[in-house]
Amino acid sequence: MILGSMPQIHLRNPYLSDGYSWLKGNLHTHTTFSDGVRPPEEVIADYERRGYDFLGISDHDMFVPPEHYQHLTRMVLIPAVEVTALGSHIQHLGVHQRVEPDTNRQIVIDGINADGGMAVMNHPNWEWHFNHFPHELMEDLQGAVGLEVYNGVIEHLDGAALASDRWDRLLSIGRRLWGFANDDSHEARDVGVAWNVVQARTRSVPDILQALKEGRFYASTGVIVNAVAIDGLRIRVSTENAERIRFVTRFGTIRATIDDATAEWQLPENPTQLKHWRYVRVECYGAGGRMAWTQPIQIESD
Ligand SMILES: [Zn+2]
Ligand SMILES: [Zn+2]
Repeated sequence: MILGSMPQIHLRNPYLSDGYSWLKGNLHTHTTFSDGVRPPEEVIADYERRGYDFLGISDHDMFVPPEHYQHLTRMVLIPAVEVTALGSHIQHLGVHQRVEPDTNRQIVIDGINADGGMAVMNHPNWEWHFNHFPHELMEDLQGAVGLEVYNGVIEHLDGAALASDRWDRLLSIGRRLWGFANDDSHEARDVGVAWNVVQARTRSVPDILQALKEGRFYASTGVIVNAVAIDGLRIRVSTENAERIRFVTRFGTIRATIDDATAEWQLPENPTQLKHWRYVRVECYGAGGRMAWTQPIQIESD
């Protein structure tokens, strides 16, 4: 090592460049097993008709085993529960056994991880105070894989469906969290608002869950991302239908805005500045307020 040499900066790209298919799915759905108005059969048929590849039925504190319904659909059914009672709602994905709600949400997340599942902090900006998930609690909790940056049903309720503000605050203090977008559908009008598109090697529960765990997916309300590629400090994002693409870093600072469906941006070669930025994520804006959010690309130094 040469004394006084600058640290080597590199970008950690969660995305694959080949050997995958993009699969579309919603991971947050209610049925008549809790407060949804339609039985699982109807909900499944609705998502299937719309061309989804996977679906997580996640009733409130109630596990609806996918094997009871898998024969009805070619979609991959992801085992899920929304842990609801006694506190802020937490999505349990990849359920083997339901986790008992507890006022201590760390115990819930630890239980989800012990089950071999993944925990996602749901609709942070729901409710009149825009703070369903108290921010200090989100900062304290350890072991969640992500949060919902967009929750469709909140469009019809108090608060904000969008929670990228929370995401930037958490990423900026060094938390590694993936952004999810879900319908949280309770009735027909809620279906098809927000979804996740994963890079999976096969159409199977383990492969889809692994892709979610590793951040090989993007969240969307209508913009289709074709590829996210990285070459050195250059990031290239191509979409089907974005009209504007933005590169966002620490505490939500927008570093570049490009009015096109494809955008390329090169980070400055200043290691001290880049370390301070921590991450880059890309927001894609389409017609009618449609969006896509890539996962954060971590800025790392040797
Ligand atoms: Zn909820
Ligand atoms: Zn819900």
